[in-house]
Amino acid sequence: MNFDYTERIIELQKKLTSFFEEYILPIEGEVNAFLYNPDNRWKPWPGMEDLKEKAKTAGLWNLFLPKSYGDLSPGLSNLEYAPLAEIMGRILWSSEIFNCNAPDTGNMEVLAKYGSPEQQKQWLNPLMEGTIRSAFLMTEPQVASSDATNIETTITPEGDDYLINGTKWWSSGGMNPACKIAIVMGKTDPKAPRHQQQSMILVPMDNPGVKVTRPLSVFGFNDSPEGHAEIELENVRVPKENLILGEGRGFEIAQGRLGPGRIHHCMRLIGMAQRSLELMSRRATERSTFGKTFKDYSSIRQEIAQSQCEIEQARLLTLSAADKMDKLGNKASKDLIAMIKIVAPNMALKVIDRAIQIRGGMGVGPDTPLAHFYAAARVLRLADGPDEVHMYQLGKSVIRKHSGNH
Ligand SMILES: Cc1cc2nc3c(=O)[nH]c(=O)nc-3n(C[C@H](O)[C@H](O)[C@H](O)COP(=O)(O)OP(=O)(O)OC[C@H]3O[C@@H](n4cnc5c(N)ncnc54)[C@H](O)[C@@H]3O)c2cc1C
Repeated sequence: MNFDYTERIIELQKKLTSFFEEYILPIEGEVNAFLYNPDNRWKPWPGMEDLKEKAKTAGLWNLFLPKSYGDLSPGLSNLEYAPLAEIMGRILWSSEIFNCNAPDTGNMEVLAKYGSPEQQKQWLNPLMEGTIRSAFLMTEPQVASSDATNIETTITPEGDDYLINGTKWWSSGGMNPACKIAIVMGKTDPKAPRHQQQSMILVPMDNPGVKVTRPLSVFGFNDSPEGHAEIELENVRVPKENLILGEGRGFEIAQGRLGPGRIHHCMRLIGMAQRSLELMSRRATERSTFGKTFKDYSSIRQEIAQSQCEIEQARLLTLSAADKMDKLGNKASKDLIAMIKIVAPNMALKVIDRAIQIRGGMGVGPDTPLAHFYAAARVLRLADGPDEVHMYQLGKSVIRKHSGNH
């Protein structure tokens, strides 16, 4: 394994860092004040489109997609994307500037991998251009959705159409007025074998049967303008051409979508943890109690040292998973993806918690990103597969691998 960054990546890292320094860091406070103001709920920060244009011109656009897509994506490998996503993880709202934000990235991957030429033309192109946003509707309130075979939404064939009925929630991006398309998971054949009952279908958000019933906050954060929506699908009628890949292929698509999506979250979590470490280290030189500067207390040095060890361990595990995905594909890398999906959110939570503690009251307030980081990292212990589900699968795989050994 060689994790040395290629020249192209060193160049992109420099470019992205300069972009942050020139355009993003100076306005961080202003954007946060706008996004946290309840009067601005579901409104994008007005300077966003201008920054997106600048990123596009700088060639910092669609860095996530591991194959080139015309002029719109440089086609970086997962290993190459990791250090760039880490930089974006340092500010929660920054990924969209580079068209690298979830859930649009996962949805674009689905359409790039499995979409028909017509579906790509109608929905993938504007998503890759960043002119519209999207949502992914899998989770349902009435069933344990961490087992996707439980999903109950029905996708029923009717003549040249499908009729869709069900309730979804935690549909990230669903509150955004720019959200024009949803990928919906449901059952086309409840009698088929367990993993062939589900399908995925494209549903325009302006379909009259789509009703956004309420926004869901995360520890009080609205995550505006994207938000997380509860959505009622009532007799939603769409043409058969909207089905992705074919009936019964939904589970296969979900697996293809979630692997890259999971590792992208982990890359950003490393960035969140790294920034938290920097915030705590800086504070350690600034404050004193009982005649000593924080940096001279051994308990504080230990917290900082421990955090540095844990971040580097998680970073290397992320790179190892990314490297295997590049060399052997997502399926062959599922154990490493599970490992990092368990490790990264828990690592980030520990580091962010230490940074909050060292920052004192300031750590839980609005003047550092730490409180929002904590909420975002906590979500990732359960979203895109709860820890226990990854351990359940990983444990099974490890036991199987060693069951013949004595
Ligand atoms: C902020 C946020 C954004 C999200 N965005 C999206 C989105 O855009 N689209 C989407 O479709 N979904 C989204 N989700 C939903 C998320 O993926 C689900 O919440 C997650 O998959 C868990 O499903 P569930 O909530 O139904 O919990 P359940 O399936 O009911 O599981 C609850 C808990 O049961 C335990 N458990 C489950 N299985 C096992 C097991 N095998 N062994 C031991 N314990 C187990 C785990 O502790 C688990 O956390 C989002 C969630 C949040 C909070």
